[in-house]
Formats: sequence, C-alpha cells, structure tokens
Amino acid sequence: MADLTHTPGSIDLHTHSTASDGRLSPTALVDRAADGGVRLLALTDHDTLAGLDEASHQARIRGIELIKGVEISVTWEKRTLHIVGLGVATSERTLASGLAGLQALRDQRARAMGKQLEAEGLAGASERARELAGGGQITRAHYARLLVDDGLCDKPQQAFKRYLKPGRPGYVNVTWAGLEEAIGWIHAAGGQAVLAHPMAYGMTGAWRRRMLTAFCDAGGDAMEVCCGNHNPSDNHVCARDARHYGLKGSVGSDYHGPHQRWLALGRPLPLPADIEPVWVHLSF
Ligand code: AMP
Ligand code: MN
Ligand code: MN
Ligand code: MN
Repeated sequence: MADLTHTPGSIDLHTHSTASDGRLSPTALVDRAADGGVRLLALTDHDTLAGLDEASHQARIRGIELIKGVEISVTWEKRTLHIVGLGVATSERTLASGLAGLQALRDQRARAMGKQLEAEGLAGASERARELAGGGQITRAHYARLLVDDGLCDKPQQAFKRYLKPGRPGYVNVTWAGLEEAIGWIHAAGGQAVLAHPMAYGMTGAWRRRMLTAFCDAGGDAMEVCCGNHNPSDNHVCARDARHYGLKGSVGSDYHGPHQRWLALGRPLPLPADIEPVWVHLSF
C-alpha cells in the first residue's frame, strides 16, 4: 500500500469518462488528472467497469495510482441513490453480472426516453443519444446535451428541470439495484462501498438520516464528505454525519469533463483529520 498523504489537490475518488457520461476518454481523464497534480484517482463510471483497463494502463504510464471504481444506480424508498464502489476487482462475477443487469435496464430506458423525447420534438433522439454515448452507457446527461444542442433548452440544468426529472415528459422510471444488493456486489468484488454526494439528493435532514441509517444497516463502509457538488457547509454537515454514523470518509469531484468549468479534478477539500480516509483500506 502506497503512503499517500492527502495534500490538497492530490486525491480524487469520483470521476467519469466516456464509458458513461463523462466527456473525456479514460486516457484523457488520467492525463488531465496527472497534469493537475492528482496522485490517487478513481474512475467511477455509471454502472460500468468498461473504462478501467484503459485508465489503469494510462495511470501506469503517468506514474499515478488508479483505483478501479464504479458508481452504481440504486433505488431505495422510490428514490435513486448512487453508491460508489472503490477498489473493485473487474474480473469478479457477482459485480460484473449485477452491472450487466443494470446496463440492460439502461439500454431499455434509453430507448423509452428516446421515444418520449421524439414526441416532444427532439428529432432522432434515440439514435443520436446512442451515437453520442459512443458505446458507453447512455444516461440522461446525453439527452440533456441533445436538448441543449437543438436549442430546446439553454443549459443541461434546464433540460433536467423541464424534460428529464421525475414527472417531466422525458422521464422514464426504472427500478435500479437494491441498496443491500449493490453493496453486496461491491463487497464480493473486494471493494469499499461509498455513499456518493449525500447532499445532492434534495433530501430533508430527516430523510438524509434515514438514508444513512439504511446505508449503514446494509453494510456500507464510507460516505463522500468533500464533493465537487457540495458547498463548504455541506462538507461540514457530511463530516458530522461521518463521525456520527462511524463511516469512513471519501473525497471526489464527480468530474464529467472540461465543460464543467467550475469543477477541477482533485479540487475537493481534504478530509478533516479525525475522519478515517477510505483510501487507507484500498490496495493499489
Ligand atoms: P442517469 O444516471 O442516466 O439518470 O443520469 C444521471 C446523470 O445526469 C448524473 O450522473 C449527472 O451526471 C447528470 N445530472 C443529473 N441531474 C442533473 C442536473 N440537474 N443538471 C445537470 N446534470 C445532471
Ligand atoms: Mn453522471
Ligand atoms: Mn452521482
Ligand atoms: Mn458521478
């Protein structure tokens, strides 16, 4: 296990590539991270391990540590949660077959969304989303991009609000993995299960505490404390939660590409010193 002290900017354990809704290839993502001073990087694409071999290869070339990760879509209490698995073995069957099921669901959902959005005036939606994803997982972010490209919305944010959120005309409801199920897959693959961006679910404090209790009961290991989509007071709330629930801490930008001009790889703040870092438990 390498000794990696978390100096600001050196660790980022939540990122995306073209294997899902990121804009950079795994190689380009690793290059950008290395150029920016990141020493320990996890690639965590939505419901797929497809980018990991390429990323590992490039990380070896660049002399940085790559943690093999995944961000699993979970349905809990009719809500979607994201559980990041860190340090997963890509050859392990339980995780691979669980993800294959989610990929089939994504594919069906993408088709259904495409049809609904075509009816809303987004010409050739299904086919174009598939092309945009280039063989990677098709996500709502791909449809958001098309809605912006065609001038139906100004910004992706608006595309989600008008078309892609529950209750909107492009939304298709699916039941993803169960919470215990996803954590079980991650553990079967030797990984650590991390609750992603706890403040980004639009929950009240009471719901967040229910979620954290359920996550702990299901065997979860850690939570993201310092995230790209958190403000400093969110980080503070999460640090308190990590202490209260006895969870380890993780840090991740949730970087999707240079179009997110407000985000940078490795930018999340360091973990407070009294929270046990999840990466101490990963071998790389
Ligand atoms: P999916 O997993 O296919 O439902 O897509 C979810 C992805 O869409 C997330 O991982 C984000 O990258 C992106 N996303 C979700 N909500 C928003 C939003 N309000 N604005 C921009 N991107 C979003
Ligand atoms: Mn995403
Ligand atoms: Mn997420
Ligand atoms: Mn993410």
